[in-house]
Amino acid sequence: MKIGSPRELFAGEARVAMTPDSALQLQKLGYECVVEAGAGKAAGFSDDAYRAAGVTVVEGAAALYAAADVIAKVRPPETAELDRLAPGKTLISFFYPAQNKDLLEQAKDKGANVIAMDMVPRISRAQKMDALSSMANIAGYRAVIEAGNNFGRFFTGQVTAAGKVPPAKVLVIGAGVAGLAAIGTATSLGAITYAFDVRPEVAEQIESMGAEFVYLEFEAAQDGAATGGYAAPSSPEFREKQLAKFRELAPEIDIVITTALIPGRDAPKLWLADMVASMKPGSVVIDLAAERGGNCDLTVPDQKIVSDNGVTIVGYTDFPSRMAAQASTLYSTNIRHMMTDLTPGKDGKVVHNMEDDVIRGATVTFEGAVTFPPPPPKIQ
Ligand code: NAD
Repeated sequence: MKIGSPRELFAGEARVAMTPDSALQLQKLGYECVVEAGAGKAAGFSDDAYRAAGVTVVEGAAALYAAADVIAKVRPPETAELDRLAPGKTLISFFYPAQNKDLLEQAKDKGANVIAMDMVPRISRAQKMDALSSMANIAGYRAVIEAGNNFGRFFTGQVTAAGKVPPAKVLVIGAGVAGLAAIGTATSLGAITYAFDVRPEVAEQIESMGAEFVYLEFEAAQDGAATGGYAAPSSPEFREKQLAKFRELAPEIDIVITTALIPGRDAPKLWLADMVASMKPGSVVIDLAAERGGNCDLTVPDQKIVSDNGVTIVGYTDFPSRMAAQASTLYSTNIRHMMTDLTPGKDGKVVHNMEDDVIRGATVTFEGAVTFPPPPPKIQ
């Protein structure tokens, strides 16, 4: 069978789902590989590099979709892309089925099998396919780099002949995958890093990365923590305590990186306008929750703004794409691992085993039926 990757249609998207290296691995599974001309260009992978890796380069999306049995891409498909699918073809991409019900219906009507990389169950066995985590890791790292780019000072403290420089103080709100990556990056650059999360079990992880966990004095210490490792909305009392703590910290903090999310909801507002107003001029807020409405009151998605008192607030929603070479390398590896599980015979033939928890969990349409939401996985 043939597996192929098209150019991404989403404006500004620089990632690609197959790299020359991942193509070599896919060929070891028995597949022939195809890319649309120019698919990897924005991520730094030339057509010649693909050819050198044994990949066939075809002109245009129509040729790519006609040639490939399995189409691997990054962004959820657009209608024009779904129109090119047919029974027997498999599409693998981010899909966000809960938010994209129309696309789900279209994919079903086309009779194609769709695997949503965002639906891979978060169980140990599936970590190698966990593209949400690999992209969140990049976003967290890049958030700190972006902060540094907008912050006119060092992260690390220095004593120089020209004067003493204090270290930057960084606060990370939300210590999931992106938050922990941001903590690691900020501490490695020498900043004094504080972090807060509603899930108290992350305190140890935060501290092991060299940051200080911001404790709240609150009787139900686990308020806001839910089952399955995800957060739940906080009670009003807890929220007030949390906001009071942030208000106390705001005048001292140079850089705030917010990553707080609750599954299925808009991002909670945690860094409010009055906190921005009490920050020092030149401070920076990077809001990684911008796509879901933002954790900061003032965030404008996809934009960088400067508040009246000189605080830069960054609401970009494309951090992984801003590190397209790295993101493509990791994402294409996640895809390759998915293909390994779909190819038990290593013979270039997809076996779509709906008895397999991971494959079942990620499959959102199968043989003309919508298969989302999946039953809960049997293995935790
Ligand atoms: P996420 O992106 O859904 O949320 C980011 C963080 O924001 C979470 O840590 C959450 O607790 C926090 N948050 C929510 N509301 C908050 C508030 N009001 N104040 C402060 N923080 C708040 O998180 P994620 O990166 O997807 O991780 C979620 C969970 O999934 C974690 O427990 C993580 O360890 C787990 N996980 C497991 C696997 C695996 O087993 N394969 C892989 C990745 C993540």
